Amino acid sequence: MPTSGIVFGVRTLHTEMTMRYASFPKIPGLEVSVLGFGAMRLPTVGGDVTRIDYEIATPLLHEAISAGINYVDTAWPYHGGESEMFLGRALHGGWREKVKLATKSPVWAVRSEGDWERIVDAQLKKLDTERIDFYLMHALSGPRWDAVKRLRGMEALERARLDGRIDHVGFSFHGSCDDFKRIVDAYDWEFCQIQLNYLDEAFQAGLEGLRYAAARGIGVIAMEPLRGGALARVPPPVEAIFKHSGKPWSPAEWALRWVWAQPGVVTVLSGMNLQAQLRENLMAASTPAALDMAPLREAEGFYRARAKVNCTTCGYCQPCPSGVSIPETFAAYATATMFDSKAVAAWMYETFVLKNEAGADRCVSCGECEARCPQLIPIAEKLREAHAYLTSR
Ligand code: SF4
Ligand code: SF4
Repeated sequence: MPTSGIVFGVRTLHTEMTMRYASFPKIPGLEVSVLGFGAMRLPTVGGDVTRIDYEIATPLLHEAISAGINYVDTAWPYHGGESEMFLGRALHGGWREKVKLATKSPVWAVRSEGDWERIVDAQLKKLDTERIDFYLMHALSGPRWDAVKRLRGMEALERARLDGRIDHVGFSFHGSCDDFKRIVDAYDWEFCQIQLNYLDEAFQAGLEGLRYAAARGIGVIAMEPLRGGALARVPPPVEAIFKHSGKPWSPAEWALRWVWAQPGVVTVLSGMNLQAQLRENLMAASTPAALDMAPLREAEGFYRARAKVNCTTCGYCQPCPSGVSIPETFAAYATATMFDSKAVAAWMYETFVLKNEAGADRCVSCGECEARCPQLIPIAEKLREAHAYLTSR
């Protein structure tokens, strides 16, 4: 396991597989499985995300725990608020004691200082537990972090920690790398959670953010290792790249192994909703192997060639004096064509850009950013194109 600076242990918890474990540098003595169970894409009934299929999801979770997964992640809004309730019920009967349970504060829903602890108490009820082991400020960005400070959110979490309602405090992040560093430096975080996969090395916090956090002893949880499943359901040319690699790994396994190979990553969250996915991920988590980067770079090249804008999300064009999130806008735009998924791209743009008041419609074509772009992208023109595309129905 190539995550330097992190202590690993090994326990055999399943007849065929041996889960691997890692520690957070600031939480000595606690080992979590290198594969975490993300409860954001559970099996549902009739395609309705708010109707979790307990008959399938409960044994899936129990099998994951029996195989050694001991980190379970949810959040207030997952499955329309039902994910926390599901875990509250599914972890009855001795399962709760076998896992570290993580959930997140819906920062966007907090209107006054008293809301923080009211929400913690509501989550404890939904989760049917007396303590939340890992508690995160959810989906921070620069503006959201400013709101947390204005509404004294960290003071509220300190109170909840002091009386034992929550244990370890961290944050999840969707914003610029500069804002990520600002947030890392602003509080004594024990851990954080960032989006990381072989296509998003330079997106949001990216590898630069990972290294920044790791250098400060903050253990990193990686989310979206399969980019919402897109790196598992790959088109035939990408399938062929991995088939010819000489390894018996699926595209999903390649993607997971890339994340595990990044120093500083403690655990990787996967939103598994099928038994076959779970077993494949468990097998990958229990069999370390050297990683050949060539097939991954080839697959990345395939996707990048399909993007409508040649942006590497390097961030050199930032900051924009008008506040436009240029890399995030182009990442959403590229997603539409790389994965034939306009709906996902429009959601990314709405969630990570427009809601942060950083949309491309703020651009005044001053040209400052274009002089700094190594890809020589006509940024102002492409931003207009991206905004029109991503906001059209
Ligand atoms: S051209 Fe637009 S995006 Fe670029 S710096 Fe000026 S206002 Fe910002
Ligand atoms: S400098 Fe160019 S390539 Fe880099 S993030 Fe900005 S637009 Fe993209």
